[in-house]
Amino acid sequence: SPDTVSTLLKKIEQDNVRFLRLQFTDLLGMPKNVAIPVSQAEKALTDGIGFDGSSIEGFARIEESDMLLKPDPSTYTILPWRSQAKAVARFVCDVTGPGGQPFEGDPRYILRKVAEDARKDGYTFNTGPELEFFLFRMVDGRPTTAFQDVGGYFDLAPTDLAENVRSDIVLALEAMGFEIEASHHEVAESQHEIDFKYSDALTTADRVMTFKFAVKTLALMNNLHASFMAKPIYGICGSGMHVNCSLAKDGKNAFYDPDGWQQLSETCMHFIGGVLSHAKAITRVANPTINSYKRLVPGFEAPCYITWSTSNRSTQVRIPAPRGNSTRVEFRSPDPTCNPYLTFAALLAAGMDGVRNRIEPPASTNANIFHMTPAERQRAGIETLPADLAEAHQALLADDVVCRALGSHVVDALSSIAELEWDSFRTAVHPWELDRYLATY
Ligand code: ADP
Ligand code: MG
Ligand code: MG
Ligand code: MG
Ligand code: MG
Repeated sequence: SPDTVSTLLKKIEQDNVRFLRLQFTDLLGMPKNVAIPVSQAEKALTDGIGFDGSSIEGFARIEESDMLLKPDPSTYTILPWRSQAKAVARFVCDVTGPGGQPFEGDPRYILRKVAEDARKDGYTFNTGPELEFFLFRMVDGRPTTAFQDVGGYFDLAPTDLAENVRSDIVLALEAMGFEIEASHHEVAESQHEIDFKYSDALTTADRVMTFKFAVKTLALMNNLHASFMAKPIYGICGSGMHVNCSLAKDGKNAFYDPDGWQQLSETCMHFIGGVLSHAKAITRVANPTINSYKRLVPGFEAPCYITWSTSNRSTQVRIPAPRGNSTRVEFRSPDPTCNPYLTFAALLAAGMDGVRNRIEPPASTNANIFHMTPAERQRAGIETLPADLAEAHQALLADDVVCRALGSHVVDALSSIAELEWDSFRTAVHPWELDRYLATY
């Protein structure tokens, strides 16, 4: 509204803003932005700013490439690592066609659409992600996989630079309005996790994008490379992005029922049923790179079987111990290369399918599934997650519920992306093959 615009323009002036960054996300989950001088602020906030959509991965065809970026006023933030005398502010934007109609390839629009659909039944979808990443050394301006430190899980010894970088990151995120709940060293050398408080899925997805961008920027300012790649190093833990999910209704956590089994509501059970029954299709968006599947293997705390549990961490879905307002379903397979908008949209559509159609989850698995033999797993009806991107993509195409949630524009674009990516990987000759065959044959 004109009121919001004039309040914002005043704020922009008070904050000494010189440039605005208009941020959006492509289908690969890459942050994109257009920088405009502050003189364009009013135009941006009222009419939007035009850009060429055909240059963005998975966006428009050449002949329909005139698109608009419409800043979401509620996302205004100063970038705290820039000079405050000549400040830079950023907005998360919606992408529209030239007439202002929502663009079906905009991941933010897809998530909003699925969230609004759940709201028709009175539900708000809340998500809390746990992002893991590595801090690697830069050599001659290029990222390497060389470790910065040799700390371990929850290590208390001040592990030099990495510790400082992590506190720089936490302070910057706090300045940008994040409520940081925890920040700790992870299992692997040079691996870190920073957790922020959950919120509605759209706000959280915006924050995931901001988080990755801020972490990379602050690492670079310390001459380190922050990598969110799922499995950068063979033989040690990869990086995940566990997604904690809950539904709220009438201001209450709809997964909590003090009288239910394990104090979980029917809605919670059906949500789990829905998510597990669509788990293979969700994998296509939650684990979108060739490399993502190198993480989903036994032995490194990442799941590879479609199971759930209230007690152990080897399953794909876990119910953490807290109840009451903190009752939640933790979905453990996603990794931080995912597009958070599409991942949350797929999870919500799957969960709501369970809630609406009262899908009962299979029996929970409290034994460590990695210790079961294949025959035992088969007897228990435990299915395996897709083994690679090609298999995951086929699973997506076979899943009407998840395809409908993403919409045909996104599904078609994901098809071209998966095909190109898979062909390029399939036909490349990898170092592994040379090690194995060159001398032998
Ligand atoms: P873990 O025990 O798996 O390491 P963390 O403590 O690292 O879990 O992260 C828990 C995440 O769950 C945080 O982002 C937190 O805000 C989020 N969370 C807490 N309550 C809810 C809820 N009701 N709905 C969704 N997410 C929640
Ligand atoms: Mg955690
Ligand atoms: Mg924790
Ligand atoms: Mg972790
Ligand atoms: Mg976790």
